Amino acid sequence: MDLFSQEIERSELKKGDHVYVWRMVLLYNHHGIYVGDGKIIHFVDPRMDGSFLSSSSSSSSLTRCRMSCCGSEKVAGSGVRMSCIDCFIENGSLCRYKYQAEKWFVVFKLRRGTCTTARSDRPEEVVHRATYLFENGYVEYDLEDNNCEDFALYCKTGLWSTNKSTQKRSSQVIFDLNKGIVKLRELGVRKDVVKVPVEELRLFVSRL
Ligand SMILES: [Zn+2]
Repeated sequence: MDLFSQEIERSELKKGDHVYVWRMVLLYNHHGIYVGDGKIIHFVDPRMDGSFLSSSSSSSSLTRCRMSCCGSEKVAGSGVRMSCIDCFIENGSLCRYKYQAEKWFVVFKLRRGTCTTARSDRPEEVVHRATYLFENGYVEYDLEDNNCEDFALYCKTGLWSTNKSTQKRSSQVIFDLNKGIVKLRELGVRKDVVKVPVEELRLFVSRL
């Protein structure tokens, strides 16, 4: 078995899982939180065409979707959507994001946005955060600092940076050219992150 494989079968999905799938069209991994009943809550750029991962899409595999809420946003324009597993996976392969990974593992896999040293909260808390953000809206999308992966990392950990300029929650390698060193900025070991209750997130972010 491949030590680094994180691919899973649908039957292995558990509530509160952070999953991702490679999106060939967009050339990046798309991330989401499995909330049970075959549903995934995920964050997309609200400016994107509404047909993305939606049952109204003309793309072949999606036209068969029977879940009425698939691709919907409860809060229009929030970018937080609910999709069925089939539409989320489309033609990709389903993988589970790894939590409490060792540092060497993170460094080794870094480019692929697949793991973190951070610890996941209990599944009920994770599902609560994702569901709350779906029902009440989230904060602004930012391709670099607050994308689908950052959304899922927040749902899993409740962690948010107190520093407005370093919102990004996914792992980063930082090259310090002056000192000639490479640093790993990793959610599990960062000192500038705090737990923010999902009900208070928007207020917290507005005060940064
Ligand atoms: Zn669907």
